[in-house]
Amino acid sequence: MKKILEKICVGGMLLGCAFIVACQGSPAPLHPAVKLRVITTLFPLYDFSREVGQGRVAVDLLLPPGVESHSFEPKAGDIRKIQEADVFIYTGKFMEPWVDDLLKSVDQRKVLIVDASEGVRLLTSGEEGNSDHLHQEMVDPHIWLDLDNAGQMVNNIAAAFTVRDPKGQAYYKKNRDAYRERLRLLDDRFKKSLSQCDSRTIYHAGHFAFGYLARRYHLQYISAYQGVTADAEPTPKRIALLAQAMKNHGSKYIFYEELVEPRIAETIAQETGVRLLMLHAAHNVSKVELDRGVTFTQIMERDLKNLSLGLSCH
Ligand SMILES: [Zn+2]
Repeated sequence: MKKILEKICVGGMLLGCAFIVACQGSPAPLHPAVKLRVITTLFPLYDFSREVGQGRVAVDLLLPPGVESHSFEPKAGDIRKIQEADVFIYTGKFMEPWVDDLLKSVDQRKVLIVDASEGVRLLTSGEEGNSDHLHQEMVDPHIWLDLDNAGQMVNNIAAAFTVRDPKGQAYYKKNRDAYRERLRLLDDRFKKSLSQCDSRTIYHAGHFAFGYLARRYHLQYISAYQGVTADAEPTPKRIALLAQAMKNHGSKYIFYEELVEPRIAETIAQETGVRLLMLHAAHNVSKVELDRGVTFTQIMERDLKNLSLGLSCH
């Protein structure tokens, strides 16, 4: 193999300097035996990258398992990992505001920086089936919870891989199309399953994460936290209001978020007698989920099951 490579390099030198650069291990183009090194911030980006890149990429998830994503900031070691990657993918500036600073320490000739929200219409929390007038209006970063947006993010990822590894173009395109078809079928199931429900309001004990999902399937959405991040805890008054709204509405289930103790949901359950159901926003996954090889579509399928039960869909 080494001999073959040497021959290619010698031949390449005759052809021009682009080949010499490749033989010296410089960023582009990659040798076919070298996998594209990809690092992503959130779990959906990690999973989309695995689906699109499969055997041609090595994907790393920047967030350690179980870590809360909105308050995450990269440490020196994380920045080094990004500097060493071929492609760095983040959700967008509203999800990872620290990327602006990061770019100062990353050589963008070496690392392709990908804003996965490119081409996605960002919504404010006021536009998203939010029937709560007290809600503070903010740009909602949870774009991946609209499966059509997820498809656009997959497109962006495939395009980025092709820029860094042009020889893989047909491969990435095939994987992209196959995965987008799976997302489309899943979206169809959501539409069908959530079209006939006794209740159309999601009462959520977490932060405002499901606005895109609620809007896509014509649901109302009320979260205990008034913000699109998990930093301002709801007040006792706010929790009491939510409990009262659920009583008035005759709700049987409160949804709680992933990776944290469902303390607020339990408080509301004690007061109202409702039961708890998880609604996983997929920002990040636990160590157990990661080790089991959980996928984004599996998380969404479980959410659909819980939504169908919690909203009494038939
Ligand atoms: Zn969130």
